[in-house]
Amino acid sequence: MSITLNSQIQYLKSIGPKRAEILSSIGIQTVHNLLYYFPSRYLDRTTILNSSKTFKLVASGYNSDITIIGKVVESEEIRYGKTNIYKVSFKDDKGFFECVWFKGIKYFRNRFKEGDYYAISAKPVITKYGHLQFAHPDFDKLASEESLDFLNTGKIIPFYKISAQLKNINLGDLSLRRLISSAVEQCIDDISETLPQEIISANNLLNLKSTIINKHFPESSGILDRANYRLKFEEFFYIESLIALKKKTNKTRKNGISFKLDIPLVKQFLNSLEFELTNAQLKTLHDIRLDMENKVPMNRLIQGDVGSGKTIVALIALLIAVSNNKQAAFMAPTEILAIQHFHNLQAMLTDFPITVQLLIGGQKLKEKNLVYDKMKSGFPAIYVGTHALIEEKANFSNLGLVIIDEQHRFGVAQRSKLITKSLSPDVLVMTATPIPRTLTMTVYGDLDVSIIDEMPKNRIPIKTFLRSDKNLDKIYKFIIESVKKGQQAFIVYPLVEDSDKLDLKAAESYFEELNSSIFRDYNVGLIHGKMKWDEKKEVMDKFAKKEFDILFSTTVIEVGIDIPNANIMVINDAHRFGLSQLHQLRGRIGRGAEQGFCILVTSDELSKRQFDATFNFDYLSDAQIQKNKTIIRLNALVAHKSGFRLAEIDMKLRGPGDIYGLKQSGLPDFKYANLVEDQDILFKAKNTAFELIEDDHNLIKEDNNVIKENLKKFYKDNLHFSNIA
Ligand code: ADP
Ligand code: MG
Repeated sequence: MSITLNSQIQYLKSIGPKRAEILSSIGIQTVHNLLYYFPSRYLDRTTILNSSKTFKLVASGYNSDITIIGKVVESEEIRYGKTNIYKVSFKDDKGFFECVWFKGIKYFRNRFKEGDYYAISAKPVITKYGHLQFAHPDFDKLASEESLDFLNTGKIIPFYKISAQLKNINLGDLSLRRLISSAVEQCIDDISETLPQEIISANNLLNLKSTIINKHFPESSGILDRANYRLKFEEFFYIESLIALKKKTNKTRKNGISFKLDIPLVKQFLNSLEFELTNAQLKTLHDIRLDMENKVPMNRLIQGDVGSGKTIVALIALLIAVSNNKQAAFMAPTEILAIQHFHNLQAMLTDFPITVQLLIGGQKLKEKNLVYDKMKSGFPAIYVGTHALIEEKANFSNLGLVIIDEQHRFGVAQRSKLITKSLSPDVLVMTATPIPRTLTMTVYGDLDVSIIDEMPKNRIPIKTFLRSDKNLDKIYKFIIESVKKGQQAFIVYPLVEDSDKLDLKAAESYFEELNSSIFRDYNVGLIHGKMKWDEKKEVMDKFAKKEFDILFSTTVIEVGIDIPNANIMVINDAHRFGLSQLHQLRGRIGRGAEQGFCILVTSDELSKRQFDATFNFDYLSDAQIQKNKTIIRLNALVAHKSGFRLAEIDMKLRGPGDIYGLKQSGLPDFKYANLVEDQDILFKAKNTAFELIEDDHNLIKEDNNVIKENLKKFYKDNLHFSNIA
């Protein structure tokens, strides 16, 4: 029987039912699956040294891992003091070397057979007998013909992820290589190309057959790079095609509202502002006005660092909507923030005939019912609230505009809930967590983007310091000096209650202790997440009215709170916070006329490990980065003011996987591509995809048929919004 791509794996030679079952459990059911089971790493001759060269390097002080290939000469167990060691001697064409194991001897004994070839990796030493020695190395068994091939021709040898299950059925690298090699031989010609020829040529991509062959058995590292590039490009291309389709579909909807823009009230409001809008604010406003005038529903993301003045821009959009006799919803992620927006809007609109309504979960039912009635009656007003705005009972009948503040806090599902509740309102989402460009192009790729990348002119950049907790007394004195001058300070702690285990300084206990000692003569307040919303509101109001000089707090103040007079923030156990969280916290201060100070307090030991303040993250190796994550995070904050720069660093530190809603975005996981490392490929693939969809958004051209088929096959869960489903 001849083998085809769709053949079940067990029809391959050497695969019986038992092996087939195990392979199937790791996703390999067909020959096609097997061809796509790519190596996880490679051994490349250019990175291999012989024994004589290695010896010279080590003798001259080289102190890193080396990979070497040799043939087993003999192996023995030797009594060494009180323990046994296991020693294997190897030979290559330039001399000898040995490997030793002090532990796990049982496992290694009987493993290394005379005449077998191995690739060995470890940091070598030269023993007192003058032997080149590798202790506890990594090792890979090679077939003898492979190792000869390898040494003579410079081939690259693939290694696969071998799970315990595969080991159990005796499928190691050697047998997998043989299996895949024979599958490639029999079936590679059946592989059909998954990208249009034009895209392949235009981007100088390897075709799919070569890609698969060279992923498994690369002729050179150059061609392996091209195979990887092709896989990543294709992956990005398909995802960006989905996004382009979604965006295109949105843009062809013409069921939105065309708002009138020429409104005296809005002009009056702009004239009443005490400050001038920044150019970035004006530009964003311009984008929004064009969107609102257009019949196509607005679908826009505003990104702006904390304090860049997004709220005022939002307010103008709200005013336009309400002046057009529509309802406008302004949704914030927390009750305290919703309340603050509510009060700010009310204060700014006192001289204007615009109604502002509040709807949050903590309100009395009676109050809520009044708001529900207004919503239902279609009464045009600004409705500020939390996700109470999207609950069952909240029914807008005349919704024209939805603004979602601090968008990253809401899941995508919540976002669409508010939107589908009415016909097709304009939607504006705002985020103060700058999103790295790669993510804007993926997670938020279907939105239009405006960026407020300019701070209001009156801002003085905040000074940030990293300090040891041994200096807390000095810091308290600094706070007292500033308070005497009429300034206010936040002191932030990571958790509400004392936790012996973590030894964190809890806001509550420190509040009590310091309030009755060093801060005795000052007005000190406390706010934390376990308070009810009206308790929190009372505290914040008092702080805003300067009834408190110092506010002890947990991270509840993280988002959006605006107290212009507060200019000092002390963040305790700063190493326990995430980077973007620290940046958000810091954004609470430095909003007024005084110089702002942010003091990151950490352990004495950490505080001493300061990098150069101008340190350049790009020079650190991945290993250095992983090892020093905490201190890099803290130093990044000291060195950088820009939230966008910090977001890039954050993404490097954490990896893109779990941040900024990628997981909740509904986009499939990336198998080959990496959002941090492969930005250039992403940009190219994105442009290619968007141009193609712009040109043929129903994918009806013959050449694009393959895209349509693959989208249907592999991305069927993501296609609901497109016209090709
Ligand atoms: P965010 O972008 O963090 O939401 P806000 O909209 O809360 O920022 O603005 C922060 C503060 O800056 C507010 O007190 C606001 O009134 C003020 N502000 C906004 N725009 C300007 C401007 N162009 N010039 C001066 N102050 C401004
Ligand atoms: Mg804001």
